[in-house]
Amino acid sequence: RDLVKTFPGRRSRTGKAGAPIRAVDGVSFDVGAGETLGLVGESGCGKSTTGRMIVRLSDPTSGTVTFDGTEIGALSQAQLRPHRKHLQMVFQDPYSSLNPRQTVARIISEPLLVQGAGAAEARKRAAELMELVGLIPEHLDRYPHEFSGGQAQRIGIARSLATSPRLVVADEPVSALDVSIQAQVVNLMERLQDELGLAYIFIAHDLSVVKRVCDRVAVMYLGRIVEIGDKHQVYGNPAHPYTKALLSAVPLPDPAAERERERIVLLGDPPSPADPPSGCSFHPRCPKAQEICRTERPLLQIAGTGGREAACHFPEN
Ligand code: SF4
Ligand code: MG
Repeated sequence: RDLVKTFPGRRSRTGKAGAPIRAVDGVSFDVGAGETLGLVGESGCGKSTTGRMIVRLSDPTSGTVTFDGTEIGALSQAQLRPHRKHLQMVFQDPYSSLNPRQTVARIISEPLLVQGAGAAEARKRAAELMELVGLIPEHLDRYPHEFSGGQAQRIGIARSLATSPRLVVADEPVSALDVSIQAQVVNLMERLQDELGLAYIFIAHDLSVVKRVCDRVAVMYLGRIVEIGDKHQVYGNPAHPYTKALLSAVPLPDPAAERERERIVLLGDPPSPADPPSGCSFHPRCPKAQEICRTERPLLQIAGTGGREAACHFPEN
């Protein structure tokens, strides 16, 4: 609820502190058990920072994170420990997120050892997890560099599942992988979700991957959610001009449809979160911007039927 994360501004040459950067600027959403929420937006929109705050790899500047009725956003690391096992993360780059000097057995066991498991028990569980993610348990004593990128990401997934979490935040889990491998890893994540009843927050800039895996989707722009709702509503009938523009850039499989469709080209780059535009922060790039957009910040509100919300003074439909 109302998650905010600010980072100190860059110092100028005279040593004067710059304006703080609001990387995440008041984000609220829910994720249900067993559900997948997609979190999409251009790089720098705050989606990774949001994910990291939810698993408490990063402390919120303000706002709350409630897991199963417990407010975990404000707990100390010691108080957090019993909840930690339910909340895990998969990272974008499998190699840099796996310690190159540790064996796979050690890497996958780590979260269990932190939770107080014995060494033998943790190793047995690591072998089971290797099998669960489609790797060979006999390879437990190998090192990360002995695996391909897709296999290394399976190790990252196995580690995230070691403590039987209920929510996994996956931050661009396939975007560092070859396209030919991406589908395999996505299939694996879907199968694991069905088998284990996991909820995912699936962070990605690739809208087609998110469309495939998620139930609901939240679109972020400059630290805020601009549209959130059921996948079919948001993809089939976007309400926010930014969502519309993002979707218009996704290639369509049917070449005829691809030729016919209208492409919305956004002007310029996303503005800096250190100096966000007034009113609707999308207004300098929005093809529909009116005077009110420059002065009044639109809040998320129901747009159309089915509970989808958009933050726009002039939502579609
Ligand atoms: Fe565009 Fe105005 Fe809607 Fe912002 S509020 S997205 S500027 S129409
Ligand atoms: Mg990111």
